[in-house]
Amino acid sequence: EVRVRFAPSPTGALHIGGVRTALYNYLFAKKHGGKFLLRIEDTDQNRYVPGAEDYIKKSLEWIGIEPDESPWSPGEVGPYRQSERKSMYMEYAQYLLDQGHAYYAFDTSEELDEMRKRLTAARVVSPQYNSITRTQMKNSLTLPSDEVKERLDSGEPYVIRIKIPRKEEVRLNDLVRGWVMVHSNSLDDKVLMKSDGMPTYHLANIVDDHLMGITHVIRGEEWLPSAPLHVLLYKFLGWEDTMPQFAHLPLLLKPDGNGKLSKRDADKHGFPIFPLNWTNPENGELVDGFKEAGYLPDAFLNFLAFLGWNPGDQREMFTIDELIETFSIERIGKSGTKFDINKAKWYNEQYLRNKSNTELSGYLASDLAKEDVTISPEKAEKIVSLMKERATFPSDLWKEGRFMVFAPKEFDQQIVNKKWNQDVVTVLTAFEEKLGSLTATLTADMSRTMLGETADEKEIKLGKIMQAVRLAITGVGAGPDLMQIFEILGKEELIIRINFALK
Ligand code: GLU
Repeated sequence: EVRVRFAPSPTGALHIGGVRTALYNYLFAKKHGGKFLLRIEDTDQNRYVPGAEDYIKKSLEWIGIEPDESPWSPGEVGPYRQSERKSMYMEYAQYLLDQGHAYYAFDTSEELDEMRKRLTAARVVSPQYNSITRTQMKNSLTLPSDEVKERLDSGEPYVIRIKIPRKEEVRLNDLVRGWVMVHSNSLDDKVLMKSDGMPTYHLANIVDDHLMGITHVIRGEEWLPSAPLHVLLYKFLGWEDTMPQFAHLPLLLKPDGNGKLSKRDADKHGFPIFPLNWTNPENGELVDGFKEAGYLPDAFLNFLAFLGWNPGDQREMFTIDELIETFSIERIGKSGTKFDINKAKWYNEQYLRNKSNTELSGYLASDLAKEDVTISPEKAEKIVSLMKERATFPSDLWKEGRFMVFAPKEFDQQIVNKKWNQDVVTVLTAFEEKLGSLTATLTADMSRTMLGETADEKEIKLGKIMQAVRLAITGVGAGPDLMQIFEILGKEELIIRINFALK
C-alpha cells in the first residue's frame, strides 16, 4: 500500500511550495488508493511558532485536501507530532552508537566556532564537521572510552553525531531526478541527537518515516542535499529493504526565472504567495493570502497542480478528481518552475465564469450589505451574469458593477472631450422621449431597436455616438453589453440618467 506524508515544521505560514508538496503527496496517494499522512515536525523548539500548526490545517482545509492520518485525525502509527514522540528516538541513536555508526561529541559552541574559523582561514569553502575535523575535536572517537563514560556520568552536555564513512559513494535513484550520486567525503557528521535530548530533523524524519510505513518521500528540492545522509541512516539502521523512494520537487522560481521565489518578490509585485492571510505572532509581520485576495479554492488548486507538473496534453482545467486520475510523478519537471501570477488570475477568471449566477449573487450580496444596499435577487443575478465575463475576483462584480445600482455622478472627462457632441444630445433627447411613452417593460432587444430607429430618424450614425451613450448611462467608456445594461436598469432609471447627463 502506498503511504506518503506531508511533514511540515510549524515555523510560520505555510509557503506556496509547501502547499504544493502537500497537494502532490495527496494526489499520488489517492491515485494509488493509498494513504496521505500529515506529521508535524516540531523537534526544533526554538523555531516553533504558535498558530503555525493551525495555519497548516486551515490551508489544507481551504483547498479541500484532507489527510487520512494526522494529529487531529490519528491513525495507528501515532502520535503525529514529533514532540510527542520524543521518547521513541533514543533507542535508535543508541543502536547507531552500538554499531559504531554514531558517536558522542562534547564540543562547546566556542570550540565549534574556533574550528570554523580555523577552516575558513585555511580557505576551506564550506567548513564541515567530517572525518578530518572529528579527529581534532573532543568526541568519543578520539577520547578514551573511560573518559567518555566519565564525562557522560558527570552530566557534561553532549550531542550524538553520525559517523559518515570515508570515501564511499552514496547513491539514490530519485523518481524525478534519476540517479543522484554523492561522495561521502562531502557530507557532514550531522548531529542526530541534541543536547536537550531531542532528535534533530534527520534522525526523527528517518525513524518516523520507517515506523509510519512511508513508501514514498515526495518533498521540495531543498531537501535533496540531505537525501544521501538519509540513505546512509536507512542503511545503518538496517532498514535498507524498506527504504522509501524519493521524489524531489522542482524549485519555484521568481517570475523572471532568476532565483528562488521569496516573500520579498511577493511584496515587491504585490501578489500573494501564501494560501491564507497570516500575522506572525512574534513580530507582527503580515503576509497576504490567496484566499483573502479573492482566489477561489478550485482555481488555486488547479494553478498549484501546474506548478511543476503537466498532464502532457493541452488540457488546463482539472477538477480534483481529474487531477487524481491524471497525476503521475513521471510528469513532474526537473527544472524550476516560474511563478506566474497571471496564470493564477486566468484560472480564477475561468472558475468564476463557470459558477452559477445564484452562487455569484451571494458574493455580490455580501459586498452590497457592507454598504447597506439591497437589491432584488433577480436583479442581482442579472448583474452578475453580465459582469462575470469581465471579473477576475468575486469582488470585481461589485467594484466594476457599481454603476448598475448607483447612477454616475461624474463622467470620464477624456471621453467627454473626445466623444460628446450635438449628435449625441440629439439622439439621447429623442430616445428619452420614446422611453417616456413606452408602456411595455424594456428589454435589451427593444432597446437596440429603439435606439437604432432614433438614430436613423435623425440621420446620425449610431456607431459614432455609441461610446458617448454608454458614458451618459454608466459614467465610463467601456463595459459589458450596453443593451443588457439598459434592460437591467429599466426605463425609469434610464430616463433619470439621460436627463442628468444632458444637463
Ligand atoms: N520538516 C521538513 C520540512 O519542513 C520535512 C522535509 C521532508 O519532507 O523530509 O519541510
